[in-house]
Amino acid sequence: MSTEQQTVVLTGAASPRGIGRATAHHLAEQGWNVGVIDLDQTASEQVSAEIREQHGVQAVGAGANVADEAAVRAAFDTIEAALPPIAALVNLAGVSSAHAYLDLPEGEWHRVLSINLDGVHFASLRAAQSMVRNGYGRIVNLSSVSAQRGGGTFSKTPYSVAKAGVVGLTRGMARELGHQGITVNAISPGPIDTDIMGGTLSEERKTAMAADGVLPRIGTPRDIAAAIAYLISEDAGFVTGQTLNVDGGLYMH
Ligand code: NAD
Repeated sequence: MSTEQQTVVLTGAASPRGIGRATAHHLAEQGWNVGVIDLDQTASEQVSAEIREQHGVQAVGAGANVADEAAVRAAFDTIEAALPPIAALVNLAGVSSAHAYLDLPEGEWHRVLSINLDGVHFASLRAAQSMVRNGYGRIVNLSSVSAQRGGGTFSKTPYSVAKAGVVGLTRGMARELGHQGITVNAISPGPIDTDIMGGTLSEERKTAMAADGVLPRIGTPRDIAAAIAYLISEDAGFVTGQTLNVDGGLYMH
């Protein structure tokens, strides 16, 4: 089936400089119809309107907190009622957390885990239930190099735990859903120049990181969008349960 007859749903695609928005545009350029789920209804609708206008595909935005399962399911219902079948889901919604472990504010552990891990589970489960009916699906989850290195870029322990959990969720789902025609993979980005880095990526720091890196630059949202486009393509049908590091060689294993 061609992308014009399919829909990709992206959570966390409303941030103006974020990976999700760049990915939504990149996929719409390839003909995908797009469902956007982000915290704010208006922002989600604005992104989907921008996608319709710029790329001539169908797009719908639905506001939902991914940590709220009922809200996630309602957002999928809205998208599913308006667009072609959901063939792919990209879980990008996430928050950073730069608190030191010994100084974790009350509730911070739960906040970070509920958005960055529960949220991926809620959206994936809902999407997979539709995909099983269609006998086809692609799910891509955003993990992080922090999962593998225990932080070390900006976010610290609860974020690393959540992103490591995303790798386990990816592998478990991949194993259980493969016979239903669904692949599930993760992408592990290194530092990408977006607002989630809490303004810590000054020009000076970027230059220092680039000088120190295996590749002489830091990552862009487009680097991640291109990897996502591959993993949700029909051509990636024999790739599942994997974590693809898109980090300029920061973590090699
Ligand atoms: P971003 O802050 O630009 O975008 C995150 C998006 O998630 C925003 O649109 C935000 O509104 C949305 N969001 C946050 N909480 C939400 C909630 N509860 N419900 C629904 N939506 C919510 O960040 P980004 O850099 O584009 O990050 C995208 C993903 O990539 C995240 O999962 C992040 O952890 C991961 N990642 C980013 C980097 C990086 O360096 N930028 C590195 C590794 C992994």
